[in-house]
Amino acid sequence: MTSDMLSWTRQQIEHRKSLAEEAHGASWEVRGRLSERPDGGADDLVAVVDAEDGTELFGVALPSPGVDEDDLAHIAFNDPQQIITDCQADLAILDDHEGSHECAGVDDNCMWILDGDCPTVRRIASRYRHRPGYLPEWAPERTDRCPS
Ligand SMILES: [Zn+2]
Repeated sequence: MTSDMLSWTRQQIEHRKSLAEEAHGASWEVRGRLSERPDGGADDLVAVVDAEDGTELFGVALPSPGVDEDDLAHIAFNDPQQIITDCQADLAILDDHEGSHECAGVDDNCMWILDGDCPTVRRIASRYRHRPGYLPEWAPERTDRCPS
C-alpha cells in the first residue's frame, strides 16, 4: 500500500527529475571572460556554461547588484546531472521503504513499519516541505536527546 505522503513525495521527485532531464546539457560549470564594450572598456563576464560544448546558459557582468560568482557556482553545482542523480537515489530509497518493512527510528532502534510512513520517508518528504501540498504532520520527528 502506498501512503499519500509517499506518493506525493515520489511525484515531487519525478517532477524535479523530469525538469532536469528537459534542461540543456548535463554537466554545467562556471567560466569567466572579459567582454569588450563599444566604449573601449571591458566587463568581467561570468557564466554558467554547458561543460561539454561550452554553450553559455546564464551569464552576468560583474560587479552585479543581484548576482555574483557564488550564485553561479551554486547553480552549476546543481546541474541536471546532479539533480537527476539525487532524484534517482531518492526514488530508490522510497522503493526500499514502501509497504511493510523494517526501518530505523529516530533513536536508531529498528522498528517494523506496517504500511505507514517511516522516519526515512518523512525525511525525504521534508526536502520538499516548501512545495504546495506538503502537510505539516509529515514533518520528521526530531530528537535532541543526548545519549546518557
Ligand atoms: Zn522505512
